[in-house]
Amino acid sequence: MPAGARIRPPAPRRPADPLAREILLAFWKVHILHHAEEGPIYGQWVVRELRRHGFEVSPGTLYPLLARMADHGWLEAERRSVGASPKARRSYVLTPEGARTLRRLRDQVAELHREVIGEAFSRTARRSRRQAQRR
Ligand SMILES: [Zn+2]
Repeated sequence: MPAGARIRPPAPRRPADPLAREILLAFWKVHILHHAEEGPIYGQWVVRELRRHGFEVSPGTLYPLLARMADHGWLEAERRSVGASPKARRSYVLTPEGARTLRRLRDQVAELHREVIGEAFSRTARRSRRQAQRR
């Protein structure tokens, strides 16, 4: 990365926009698998975590998404009660199939990062070196 280049957290985006539907949805799933590998996750926590990454995801988008991931066999839902409250919250754990999926995705994310970020930054760096030589 060239000196002075900074990665700025993206501005929060509404999930209804085409970018969210077509592309960001997939990013969120990668985040979710990654965090589920660390331990059980639950909806509200995921909403906060994705917000920390600059994504605004409504529960109306997230809960069906978690359910679909469970349908694919990547996550398994478990219900545990929180404290003395009779209210149960559903948490999800990563399944062995989810762990395999995550490994494949990590390779793809690395490849994508190498090309989309690595090459773009080295192009920018080459361009600014050329400009500096002309001065
Ligand atoms: Zn995260």
